[in-house]
Amino acid sequence: MENNFDVIVVGGGASGLAAAVEARRAGASVLVLEKNHMPGRKILSTGAGKCNFSNRKVGPANYHGAPAAFLKKTFTALPPKKITAFFEELGLLWTEGEDGKLFPRSMKAQDVVAVLVNELASGGAQLRALTEVLSVRPAADGFEVEAQKVPPQWDKKSARGEKTVLRCSKVVLAAGGPCYPQIGGTARGAELLRGLGHDVSPQRPVIVPLKVREDFVKEMDGVRLEAALRLSSQSGDSWEARGEILFTDYGLSGPAALDLSRAAAEALAEGPLQAEADLLPDMEADELQALLAARAERFAERPFSHFAAGLHNEKVMKVCAGLAGINWQALTGQAEQEALYSFGLTLKALPMEVTGTLGFAEAMVSAGGCDTAGVDPATFASRKVKGLYITGELLDVDGDSGGYNLHFAWTSGILAGRAAAR
Ligand SMILES: Cc1cc2nc3c(=O)[nH]c(=O)nc-3n(C[C@H](O)[C@H](O)[C@H](O)COP(=O)(O)OP(=O)(O)OC[C@H]3O[C@@H](n4cnc5c(N)ncnc54)[C@H](O)[C@@H]3O)c2cc1C
Repeated sequence: MENNFDVIVVGGGASGLAAAVEARRAGASVLVLEKNHMPGRKILSTGAGKCNFSNRKVGPANYHGAPAAFLKKTFTALPPKKITAFFEELGLLWTEGEDGKLFPRSMKAQDVVAVLVNELASGGAQLRALTEVLSVRPAADGFEVEAQKVPPQWDKKSARGEKTVLRCSKVVLAAGGPCYPQIGGTARGAELLRGLGHDVSPQRPVIVPLKVREDFVKEMDGVRLEAALRLSSQSGDSWEARGEILFTDYGLSGPAALDLSRAAAEALAEGPLQAEADLLPDMEADELQALLAARAERFAERPFSHFAAGLHNEKVMKVCAGLAGINWQALTGQAEQEALYSFGLTLKALPMEVTGTLGFAEAMVSAGGCDTAGVDPATFASRKVKGLYITGELLDVDGDSGGYNLHFAWTSGILAGRAAAR
């Protein structure tokens, strides 16, 4: 087997595949090493299987970690529109959803993986799956990359296979972050980078579901609704997001909760956070109370369940009625006026206590990572190790939810792949 390449890409995820495509197009011999059984496994899980691969509104303000000046240089070197052009050239049709989110037109993440892998195969790049990189060492005229055959993640019985030392002129380190270890997330890339002399800050989960103390969320498990969510910390800071929330048996997920999770993850170090969800954000509090009062008269001789039917989601109504002390089966007319008022208040501000996050196991993105001062923003070349390129989530750059993280992965991968092939 050939063991000498112009460019070795460590990690066949979003940024690694984009880097490999560009390096191969520029004429380099390319090998991608991926420890999973297939490349692009995490891409398959993105956007709930639809892959929100970019956003029409991409700009430095959507990112955290790296200074805005770094991202400005990156987006000057590869303007955001070039990402859709890159995918169009690979054969992918795409479409725009809410808030500028871009998806494959088929709404299938596997199409995104397919066009990348097809391009690599027809271009003659090599891809070795179930191959984990153990070390990357600078050597005369390039690098020595030590790799080992590994069994698939679900196979707990088979032993690891033989080790090989591969040689190359350039290395693109595209090993991603530690989120979702069940589909390949690992801190191994950060360790490799530290070994190569880069400053790497601790990685932490950021776009991550929130745990809530109250058991009533279990009764609303699976309910998705448009809400305005507000979090307040012990020290008086507060954050608000409007959008879809998803109640789960442990707490809150969905775009609005995920958007607030970055701030929540940091503030939780001080202790639990107070949360309030406005479940009818389109309606003013007075307007709602007037509506409830009129309804109370109309349904006075009927059970409260009839009063609630058609007002909002039934599971939510039951929880809010319970919190206001209203008997769901009793006649509406028997409910105290105060209890009806409190029911309205609960709908406008469902109180909860956020006690934690689900951590790396369920986080979509990690913050922290390789200090961007150590890389060139236009080529993603290491300023510390000649011939090394660092891409994607390994870097201390994390985007908001909405396609920004994959956008950065493709952008850094393309720029690194091009530069590495030079
Ligand atoms: C559930 C989920 C949903 C998401 N949805 C979206 C979304 O809709 N839009 C969006 O923009 N972002 C989304 N993200 C975030 C996005 O997937 C990541 O930011 C992006 O994939 C990072 O790209 P990357 O190339 O840095 O890393 P990855 O895509 O994670 O690729 C890294 C690859 O390197 C491999 N690897 C690691 N170490 C080694 C090693 N030592 N040897 C060999 N191989 C190795 C891994 O197995 C992996 O395949 C989501 C993430 C998750 C977990």
